[in-house]
Amino acid sequence: MTYDDRRPGTGRVGQVKEVTSLANPIIKDIKALSNKKDREETGTFMAEGLKLVIDALELGFEIRTLVYAKAAKGKPLVEQVASKTVARGGLVLEVSEKVLSSVTRRDNPQMVVGIFEQQWKRLSDLRPDLGQTFVALDRVRDPGNLGTIIRTADAAGASGVILVGECTDPYSLETVRATMGSIFAMPLYRASPAEFIGFAGKSGAQVVATHLAGAVDYRTIDYKRKPTILLMGNEQSGLPDDLAKAADRLARIPQQGLADSLNLAVATAVMLFEARRHLLSLEAR
Ligand code: SAM
Repeated sequence: MTYDDRRPGTGRVGQVKEVTSLANPIIKDIKALSNKKDREETGTFMAEGLKLVIDALELGFEIRTLVYAKAAKGKPLVEQVASKTVARGGLVLEVSEKVLSSVTRRDNPQMVVGIFEQQWKRLSDLRPDLGQTFVALDRVRDPGNLGTIIRTADAAGASGVILVGECTDPYSLETVRATMGSIFAMPLYRASPAEFIGFAGKSGAQVVATHLAGAVDYRTIDYKRKPTILLMGNEQSGLPDDLAKAADRLARIPQQGLADSLNLAVATAVMLFEARRHLLSLEAR
């Protein structure tokens, strides 16, 4: 049923659709966003939680649909995001908890869910500046790893994440959850290995690749003499030779103990905060 909803406190009239049926075609379309193919075809993705939706709107992400639980109706912040959604031409759905659970595949779903347009930056437009650090990930496979890396890159002040080759989708529900909102803050690029190698050669940045056979201790590298791209290998097989050859330095994080390598997200965090430490010392001068 479509009806006009006069919003207390805003005096605005918005279009809100009330949905209680799991068979509703709009709900079916939203549920289909759990498939990569549907996300790619529509260029959209789902983010859960009021805070994330507010952050996304503030950062200029285009909202297509806002879904909120009936129980959240009348809450001032929910009303504000609903008004913004309508003002930006989006659709607002007020749904039963059963519908929200089916959309998010969770028993205790968040009260608010937003469907947003994906944002990809063009690698060919990227001109790394001195003081900037980027992370490039070779065929990252694990959604939790990718989400954690995007979150950590944001927290370490990095300027973007470049996905090289066939990577897991940063806009999957699992990855978006693991980013804890940083998906909206971190510019995302994607490239084939050949495109990345071509870009790296003329970008003016130094590529510091991490490799278990790296000859250089990661703490001895100067991360501030040029913009830096930290290149990280695939979880199972590490970096292939063509990407390793494109690097200016092959860095190793010295380890103790039995494990032959660090988890990819942990290794990326170690590298990001080492680069940050160098850059902060540059600022302090
Ligand atoms: N078996 C893989 C290999 O042979 O490289 C292990 C890959 S490791 C789980 C994933 C990525 O994390 C590596 O490709 C590398 O980029 C980084 N990494 C993990 N531990 C590292 C270490 N001690 N030194 C340098 N890089 C490391």
